[in-house]
Amino acid sequence: MKSILSILLVGAFVVSMPFIFNKSVTVTEPHKLDVDGNFILNEWVPSRDGKGPEWDYNLKPVQVSERVWCFFGALEMPTKENAGNMSNSCYIKGDDQWITWDTGPSYIFAKQAYAAMQKIADMPVKTVIISHEHDDHWLGNNYYKEVHGATIYGTELINENYYGPRHVEGKDYPGMQTRMIKALYQNANRGTVLAPVDEAFDETTKLNISGVNLEYVKVGYAHSEEDWFLYLPDDKVVLAADVVMNGRVTSNRDGIVVGQINAINAIRSREWDYLVPGHGFVTDKTAADESVKYFALLKDRVLEKMEEGVIADYITKEVTLDEFRDKDLYYILSPGNVFRSYEELEMFDEDDLIDYSAENSSDEEDDAEDKEEKEAA
Ligand SMILES: [Zn+2]
Repeated sequence: MKSILSILLVGAFVVSMPFIFNKSVTVTEPHKLDVDGNFILNEWVPSRDGKGPEWDYNLKPVQVSERVWCFFGALEMPTKENAGNMSNSCYIKGDDQWITWDTGPSYIFAKQAYAAMQKIADMPVKTVIISHEHDDHWLGNNYYKEVHGATIYGTELINENYYGPRHVEGKDYPGMQTRMIKALYQNANRGTVLAPVDEAFDETTKLNISGVNLEYVKVGYAHSEEDWFLYLPDDKVVLAADVVMNGRVTSNRDGIVVGQINAINAIRSREWDYLVPGHGFVTDKTAADESVKYFALLKDRVLEKMEEGVIADYITKEVTLDEFRDKDLYYILSPGNVFRSYEELEMFDEDDLIDYSAENSSDEEDDAEDKEEKEAA
């Protein structure tokens, strides 16, 4: 029995070899040292400038519309092997500058993303717009701040909940060790400093930056405590960030189901041809379908079981979302989403769902149908 087990373990190790080792460098003792010869530690150490080569993110921008290019990350949790390249971020081409939507997981990611975009148009990044506070979406901020002098728009929560290194009364204090900073090798992490946002808006704001019309839409507490999406009315593009994902199951650990449904409906109420999710590769008119279905099923099934008297302890046994079993991260994240929604939905009030079709007339077909229904009623 033991020998079978050890053969299986050896087999599993061999299969996982390509994922364990940094693909771009040779590390002689991978279990002990990273590429700079540093021990890999999960607690805080002062950041060191290693001499080894930078992590190569191997970034290839994909053009989504006339003005929009995006980088698509893996459908995984942040790990040493993907170096945090597991979310989507975009570049919008202005007349004389690039505008970035989310900045990725590290300084080096942002630097390499810019190098790829500079080949398309040699313009600086003067504006950075951030979707929400999760660190896979904004740790590239300090690259754009330091190198390009960009103005960073984003949620105030980044400034409230995170802090970079500080020098107070002659003493140095480290910056916060976020999930990402703990997960990455130093040759992916180095240079990354938590950079605050320069300007936060209270409400949805229309902007014209370098000839591009943008609507920065606040959807509030949805996937995180404060989410925003970006709408380009002239391009008919929505940059949805994490209120929409496809190909993988979402993490609702910081989110609420009702907020998610409202956020997706706010997106659906606008007229668009392309939607870039926060995670996932589908960008056509079906891009939001999985998220629409996931949250609708999650809400309905949990409410149904609550009515039947199922208590919180058993809810993850009673409610599964089998339709999503073949999606990435299903087994890791879906039970947590179900469990978390139980607490929220105990307070569920139908009135918390916003009827965007009544408020916004851009989705003509739906609206016409709704009006007919209302008139008939
Ligand atoms: Zn997120």
